[in-house]
Amino acid sequence: MIDLGVAVVIEDDADVRNLLDAVLQQAGFEVHSAATGRDGVDMARERRASVITLDVGLPDIDGFEVLRRIRQFSDAYVVMLTGRDEELDTITALQGGADDYIIKPFRPRELRARITAMMRRPRQGAVGEPEAPVGLPGGLPSEPGLAAAGVARRGGTVLHHNGLALDTETRTVALRGTPLGLTRSEFDLLHELLRGTGAVRTRADLVRVVRGEYYREDTYISEADERAVEVHIGNLRRKLREDPQDPRWLVTVRGVGYRLAPKRAE
Ligand code: CA
Repeated sequence: MIDLGVAVVIEDDADVRNLLDAVLQQAGFEVHSAATGRDGVDMARERRASVITLDVGLPDIDGFEVLRRIRQFSDAYVVMLTGRDEELDTITALQGGADDYIIKPFRPRELRARITAMMRRPRQGAVGEPEAPVGLPGGLPSEPGLAAAGVARRGGTVLHHNGLALDTETRTVALRGTPLGLTRSEFDLLHELLRGTGAVRTRADLVRVVRGEYYREDTYISEADERAVEVHIGNLRRKLREDPQDPRWLVTVRGVGYRLAPKRAE
């Protein structure tokens, strides 16, 4: 079994907690669980969780507050568990920095598939398979000078674009030398656009990027999935302090998706 690191389950319902515990253990995680929000925050910190499942309704502090606290020290992959038809909750969760959400009741297989697909792309220091070396995608850039400049390095590549540097080996991003704390989903989306040589990525393309192998070419992609990508992009823009009138990195292609802004003369 592959050792995927530590998962923390924060859930007050004992039945759901046990189910999540079993699913994650079976997937290859060392699992610790907490029944309250405060215990969950402490456990996520002490155990250095790489994955966290987080219930919205907890007896002490709610899941959104737990998420806010966890994001102050952790870039773990956070899946929020929300109630049925609580669309506002899912958007709030993503805006608060959750990577994904699952609506209760959920199919254990779905949770496991989403999480294991994501964990194949670990960050520095995380255990699991190392990321394959990434060069620029095959073929020539569609427009010379539009591609993010890639500098190949041992085991990875650093992509540079308008003051931004994204390191595929350490999975870190810096803006003019200052590190940006991105979530896994934000990193993956930014990586996809930077390596895309200015080509348009549809929202559906980007859903596949954040959901990984679980979403294959023929998988139905819902409006909610696409909206989740929009929220992640919104978070990214906030962290990048993008000027919406004059973006340096992420350009919206109305009705379609996103592309990388052209390279500027510095
Ligand atoms: Ca609950």
